[in-house]
Amino acid sequence: MTASLVMPVEGEHLRFYVRSRTEPGQRYLVDLQEHDFNGQCGCEDFLYRCGPKLKGKFTPGDVTRCWHIRQARAFICDKFLPKLAEHQGQLRTERTERTGRKVYRLHR
Ligand SMILES: [Zn+2]
Repeated sequence: MTASLVMPVEGEHLRFYVRSRTEPGQRYLVDLQEHDFNGQCGCEDFLYRCGPKLKGKFTPGDVTRCWHIRQARAFICDKFLPKLAEHQGQLRTERTERTGRKVYRLHR
């Protein structure tokens, strides 16, 4: 069985193991909360290329994020977007049920 490309660290929402795309069996720990949500990775690309750019004038983006961070962000986005759409649906329902005032509230 092949391990998934992105594996959440058990019990955590913002840390993931991301498989190497060049070295079989290698995986890196990615923490998306680090550096004001730019993310941090244990790979050499982040250590030597992306990480040091965080100290410069670069705004967070592809140059400050290695491939593994980008995979973890895509993974969490895929999980989050349907939930966001779900919440927006609930917000709309809430609005139409009420008359007069617009009340925005998330149902839990
Ligand atoms: Zn990396």
